[in-house]
Amino acid sequence: MTKIWSLVSCHILIIFLNTSASSASVDYSSDPYVQLFQQYLRINTTTTISDLTPAVQFWQELASSQDLELQKHEYVPGYPVLVIKWPGVDPSLPSIVLNSHMDVVPVNEAEWKYPPFAATLDSDGVIWGRGTQDMKSVSIQYFLAMKELKQNNVTLLRDVYMTLMPDEEVGSVSGLRLFKESPEFTALNVGCVMDEGAAAPLPVYGMFYQDKAIWQIEVTCYGEAGHSATFPASNTTATGKCRYVIDKFLNYRDQQHAISETATLLKSGLFTAINLNKIRAGTANNVVPQSVSLVFDIRLATELNTTAFELQMNSWLAEAGSGINMTFLQKNKQSARTVVSKKNPYYVAIQSAASNLGITIVPIVSPGSTDARHLRLQDVPAFGFSPLANTPTLLHTDNERLNVTTFLNGIEIYKEIITSLANIPASKTNKLDVQSLVVQSEFN
Ligand SMILES: [Zn+2]
Repeated sequence: MTKIWSLVSCHILIIFLNTSASSASVDYSSDPYVQLFQQYLRINTTTTISDLTPAVQFWQELASSQDLELQKHEYVPGYPVLVIKWPGVDPSLPSIVLNSHMDVVPVNEAEWKYPPFAATLDSDGVIWGRGTQDMKSVSIQYFLAMKELKQNNVTLLRDVYMTLMPDEEVGSVSGLRLFKESPEFTALNVGCVMDEGAAAPLPVYGMFYQDKAIWQIEVTCYGEAGHSATFPASNTTATGKCRYVIDKFLNYRDQQHAISETATLLKSGLFTAINLNKIRAGTANNVVPQSVSLVFDIRLATELNTTAFELQMNSWLAEAGSGINMTFLQKNKQSARTVVSKKNPYYVAIQSAASNLGITIVPIVSPGSTDARHLRLQDVPAFGFSPLANTPTLLHTDNERLNVTTFLNGIEIYKEIITSLANIPASKTNKLDVQSLVVQSEFN
């Protein structure tokens, strides 16, 4: 994510430096909203190694506190999908879904200044902990925004659902991917989904409307092996063939990198990012290896013709010689995009809320991928948004943390966005053609 934000011009960064919020002078330790956030952070929900039962109990208690129904669906044992319903005035209208995930990525505890599951609030008003940015803050902000709207008797026309997923960080195979195919999901009659975005050290808020699809490939080159005293021609060895393959991929990478250097914040979908992340070869220092394997991670440009690109990769391998295999470790479909124009009433509602709040929300392509991509492929309009402006991008890093004022401010932002979305008049969505909300890639 960092790269994307660094593409924005310097004057915006200067504004950020001048407007950076400070919460050092106020003691937030007894603030009930901060305490609730800390309570959730202290539940260790590390993906796949944690029992999510305490997190489910946490949400069950919060739902009961508001007299709300919480449904738990378990498509795979141990991977609960939670749905909390906040009824609107007209349940026949398409609903608004506030999606988040309960799980967090693992920690390297030795590198943390404070224990990662202690939710320490320091004297500068910063809460430290795994999930502060990705994305327990957002789940709590959704809840507190809805709670306040209810307390203030704000009328919402449409039903609003909070959905909480168990395994986003490992590909959602037991959570959202099964949930979105289920009758329970159909029953939500979803109009629009809000999902996670990312923190950024900028005064503007990025909102994802499309992801870059991921391909991961393993290329294995086989060649003449033997004693290192032998001296076969390079193009007959595994390493010689592999050198050719690496050159082709990295030359292409350089071309794409040059595009990335000139791309603006809005254009991160223009380039294909390739990284060579694993090289495996060799059994002994004096043995010419029989095989070399390479793993490339590729994030596709949104307009990349995938058929042509796959043919291109195959032709590079053919040029490198015989005895070369390519297997796909991951091959995702090209991303669909949620329409970000006045044709989409949900987008219009979000921008209207931004205008009321006096903030700038910029639609961008996510350099990574989130649960929202699965929904868009199913023609469900989804946006990725986390109200974390003026915040260093620390998702998945050691010492993940969040300023309390940013956390509290996000509740106000969601109150406005949710009110705007849930009160879109029926006339605006009654005769909507799905094609006007989500556009599938022509390359799938
Ligand atoms: Zn996340």
